[in-house]
Amino acid sequence: TIGMVVYDLDNKFSAGTSSNGARFKIPGRVGDSPIPGAGAYANSYGGCAATGDGDVMMRFLPSYYTVLQMELGAKPSKATHKAIKRILDAYPKFSGAIVAMNSRGQTGVACANMKTFGYNIAYRNGTVVTTKTGCLTPKT
Ligand code: ASP
Repeated sequence: TIGMVVYDLDNKFSAGTSSNGARFKIPGRVGDSPIPGAGAYANSYGGCAATGDGDVMMRFLPSYYTVLQMELGAKPSKATHKAIKRILDAYPKFSGAIVAMNSRGQTGVACANMKTFGYNIAYRNGTVVTTKTGCLTPKT
């Protein structure tokens, strides 16, 4: 998956994902990537993108859930962890990750059943920060 969250000069969020579907490719499969709220979601409070087992993620709309948690006051890290935990409670073997940013520019990431997960934050001034996080699987 390529997932992206953008906070533009007009303070508006956009988010999107693409999937090569390599692991889950069957003819006609849509997957989570193009489904708003599943692969990605954005509103005025923040943006979110997700990667992983899309057939599971589609049932939980984790990107919408993450942005909703931020709207309700959670920081991105808390919001992404809550979204992953919600999936793990039903599917303990779920493998995936979620990144999010809020309108204060704070970012968060949570992942499950992956060794590591990395993402980049590119700022308007050209600075790029590469972040690689150990992937803790939240307790279920
Ligand atoms: N979420 C994608 C899918 O299920 C796969 C991926 O994240 O790599 O199609």
